[in-house]
Amino acid sequence: MSRSYEEGGRAGCFQLRRARQTGTLVGVYHSEQAGLDETGDPTTKWFTVCEDHGRLVGHPSLHLARWHASDPMGWCGVCAGTEEPDEDVTPREHDDTVEVSP
Ligand SMILES: [Zn+2]
Repeated sequence: MSRSYEEGGRAGCFQLRRARQTGTLVGVYHSEQAGLDETGDPTTKWFTVCEDHGRLVGHPSLHLARWHASDPMGWCGVCAGTEEPDEDVTPREHDDTVEVSP
């Protein structure tokens, strides 16, 4: 492992920001370091996570993951307004100290 990622106290987190579009907290995670690699797909090295809704999507590269982080409406159905929030999803913790990205 060449580098350990951690942002906002979250293991494997490369980036944690509120998406300007939706105001939801979106994290970019290294799948292995964050323990998100249970999909068993070795090409999915990075995940973009909508922290507020518990939805996540995998990507083969950090570039793609970061690109999707600014557009949660493109992959989180709850952000897009096409899906109801899952009842059993609670944000891992509510962190109001995270600043809105400019
Ligand atoms: Zn969302």
